[in-house]
Amino acid sequence: MPLDFLKRKGQTAEPASAAPTKATSGLMPEEVVAQDFQLKLYYAGKTSEGVRMRTGPQAMAELPSMLVGLAKSEIEVVEPLPIEFSQATPTIARPSEAMQWLNAHHIHSPITRHALVVLESIDAVDLAFDTFVCSLLDGEIDTSGYPEYNAIVGGVAAHWDEATGDMICRAVVGWGGRGVRGDTDRIGNKLLASLLTNILANQHAVGLTAIERPVPAAGRGGLVCAHCGFASAHERAFYCPKCGMRLLRG
Ligand SMILES: [Zn+2]
Repeated sequence: MPLDFLKRKGQTAEPASAAPTKATSGLMPEEVVAQDFQLKLYYAGKTSEGVRMRTGPQAMAELPSMLVGLAKSEIEVVEPLPIEFSQATPTIARPSEAMQWLNAHHIHSPITRHALVVLESIDAVDLAFDTFVCSLLDGEIDTSGYPEYNAIVGGVAAHWDEATGDMICRAVVGWGGRGVRGDTDRIGNKLLASLLTNILANQHAVGLTAIERPVPAAGRGGLVCAHCGFASAHERAFYCPKCGMRLLRG
């Protein structure tokens, strides 16, 4: 078979009869001429230490205020996912997981969806137990409203400490896409520090704490909160990921 398809653009307009067919047909060339294709995606993010909050379940209402002064777009709240979305993953080659993810997140803004793709891909947030409050923090968006590769997105992720029932907040930033820029990491560090300052400045903050992230067991869980009706996908949850009230077992 003639290797017509390897010809450069501009040559392809030649009529097929012009190609040298009979002489080379069926012969393996001595060297394969390969055209290489690749896409390098770069996702990165940072999270801070945790800050323990003494507030009780009304703490959730405090979260958006921690982005004030830093948010460059609308501040959006992403709640923990209930059990029917426990397999949700932003991976298009896995249609069942991808459909769950889209069903869970299509309501959010392009900025928040971009943030979730980046931060879930690098495991910086886990919506089995995290509540994530998100905004554009630095950089530009494209004409469709999606952040550029060097734009920084993020905010505050919060979960309920399984031992004490306190809310633990941490600053989270992320960026990425088809490109890398040298100063993004430095700006990310600066924004992380500013977010942590905002969290610590909250009236209910009682100081830094080591984060022990709950380990969710995928596909298990199913405890239903008697207070808000939320069905947790998170097997170890003692506290409702959504409203923070104690879950009743049995
Ligand atoms: Zn609840």
